[in-house]
Amino acid sequence: MAGIKAVAALSALTTLVAAHPGHSKRSIAVGKIISACTVKGQVALTFDDGPYQYTETILNDLDASGHKGTFFQNGLNYDSIYNYNSTVQRIYNGGHQVCSHTWDHADLATLTTAQIQSEMTQLEVAFANIIGVVPTYMRPPYLSTTPSVLTTLGAMGYSVIEVDIDTLDWEYDDTSPSTAEQNYQTGYEAGGSISLNHDPEPVTASTVLPWIINYLNGKGLKSVTVGECLGDPAANWYRAPNGAKASSSKPASASSTKPATSSTKPASSVSATVSKSASSVPASVSSKAASATASVKASSSSAATPTGKPSPDDTCGGTNGYVCQNSQCKFNHSILS
Ligand SMILES: [Zn+2]
Repeated sequence: MAGIKAVAALSALTTLVAAHPGHSKRSIAVGKIISACTVKGQVALTFDDGPYQYTETILNDLDASGHKGTFFQNGLNYDSIYNYNSTVQRIYNGGHQVCSHTWDHADLATLTTAQIQSEMTQLEVAFANIIGVVPTYMRPPYLSTTPSVLTTLGAMGYSVIEVDIDTLDWEYDDTSPSTAEQNYQTGYEAGGSISLNHDPEPVTASTVLPWIINYLNGKGLKSVTVGECLGDPAANWYRAPNGAKASSSKPASASSTKPATSSTKPASSVSATVSKSASSVPASVSSKAASATASVKASSSSAATPTGKPSPDDTCGGTNGYVCQNSQCKFNHSILS
């Protein structure tokens, strides 16, 4: 009975969200890939694949230095987003930007339109529950899209953000964080502005990000959110679950200390049931997510014969002993996001 109610509540809110994409008032493009800031001289630091246990350290780094970050988050990747409600709220209320990275880090290019919509709306429900609003910015996992994917995302009102500086922090995590740092410097000096890091990578929080912050400080630069560096008013970064603009909730105000109140009704009405629903499936779904990331990671180390359990840290093959659970190793390792 409870399960049926949970499904009904989830379905109702999902339908509500999907039926009101709210894209007609956006001031920047939706459904088209954006890879660079448009406000001259600004840079944006972005973090994918969280929330996870190191996200708070990232926030500490940013907040202590006055930089802003943009977080493309999953609902179920390294962990369930519902285990990090306070972290997501801290990002939102701290003047950083919360964005979507799909529910479980799926490769949207391999999915049907209905499946793509589901990847987005499942996470919309979670964000509605946790921060009371729905992001209007997203980044496709693996930066993988097709014209059809972009059409679907555009119809849902999403601005699609990619990158022009890839630090490859996940690849150089334990062996050579300085390589990720050099990648940032090289990308910046080449005119790059939107950089890619991963908050679940411990070395990003402890080493790479502090280096980047110091580097930018040396240039008198403070990173801003992607929305700001695109000149998009903060009110447009989110929408209410019912499709209205979220401007009344002061979405990105650093002075705001609590979540938006405009959507507490839908949030509170489905919070418990959605959480329960999510927690009832982590074994199979997280396994799938781990499998997906593991298979991607394996593309550059297919010569190895990995054994053991699915990777908990987005690595696979080589000498780490983690197993790849399927053979869909088709993504370019260099653009993994
Ligand atoms: Zn990702």
